[in-house]
Amino acid sequence: KPVLGIESSCDETGVAVYAAGRGLLAHRLYSQVRLHAAYGGVVPELASRDHVRKLLPLARETLAAAGVGLRELGGVAYTAGPGLVGALLVGAACARTLAWALEVPAIGVHHMEGHLLAPLLEPDPPAPPFVALLVSGGHSMLVHVAGIGRYRLLGDTLDDAAGEAFDKTAKLMGLPYPGGPALARLAEQGRAGVYRFARPMTDRPGLDFSFSGLKTQVLLAWQASDRSEQTRADIARAFEEAIVETLTIKCRRALAATGAHTLVIAGGVGANRRLREQLAEAGAREGFRACFPRLEFCTDNGAMIALAGALRLAAGQHADAAIRVFPRWELASLPAVAA
Ligand code: ATP
Ligand code: MG
Ligand code: FE
Repeated sequence: KPVLGIESSCDETGVAVYAAGRGLLAHRLYSQVRLHAAYGGVVPELASRDHVRKLLPLARETLAAAGVGLRELGGVAYTAGPGLVGALLVGAACARTLAWALEVPAIGVHHMEGHLLAPLLEPDPPAPPFVALLVSGGHSMLVHVAGIGRYRLLGDTLDDAAGEAFDKTAKLMGLPYPGGPALARLAEQGRAGVYRFARPMTDRPGLDFSFSGLKTQVLLAWQASDRSEQTRADIARAFEEAIVETLTIKCRRALAATGAHTLVIAGGVGANRRLREQLAEAGAREGFRACFPRLEFCTDNGAMIALAGALRLAAGQHADAAIRVFPRWELASLPAVAA
């Protein structure tokens, strides 16, 4: 039976309908990016209120597009964390109440498990065991995936997440919010070799990341420059190259350390063109398979939550009848789903 998935952990309202065996039936996304642009970042209270406004209409629209009536749903999945507490509560309250009224089970999904499983929405999906690179606005992690819910953290960031580094670096060079994708677009116009920044923490063993120093290097280079459009693009390119090469080195290390032959890349930075190219090339050269979600499922979306929830509901897992969210939540603490 189809599962309704609801994502509301930050500034995107996402809804999707997924059914085992039939796949994704419909998905819709509403981004609040214009709402927060004037403030240069996500304002939590405004985010919660906008989810309240947009969630139900979006759910109706998605169900209609899927051709699925409320009574046909077999369960409801929602993002239970990590994320902004108010935003999470909107999705959780809506999902839990709907499930209660329909007398179907509900399940709280870990947002990063959603990201991690998003490549399973594509044709010829990867099968565990694999290594996952999760690079988003709030996380930069390497995870060994032995099965659904069997996650072992291999590496983490000591400071900024990869997406956060993109966003902050864009801001300090004066790019408008949201900076990450704008910086990546600008990098396309940058010339190779004009600037070069360090590949942080690649000169010693280990799978952890640190990106805040890179941001400082960019600030110093930018302040000392002529601040022309071309210079900004050249710096953006060198910054992107440094991040992408650092991530590529660590991914290869993680594959070697675990003996895995499949790499899954997920999270918003997974939409980065240079990163996709470099990891696909490294895979072709070194004999591993690199799997990505389609671009729109790299950033936040309801489809990944519907899928993750459907897998857990099918295994008989569900949340109790309380509306509970977890603003901080360890991925490795999730229960396994029997294969
Ligand atoms: P988290 O998933 O950790 O809670 P989030 O949900 O805010 O954080 P995502 O929606 O997965 O993060 O991704 C958003 C991030 O992805 C932003 O930091 C943004 O800058 C970055 N991003 C999006 N597109 C690109 C791109 N093409 N190149 C680089 N970064 C990008
Ligand atoms: Mg977002
Ligand atoms: Fe996310």
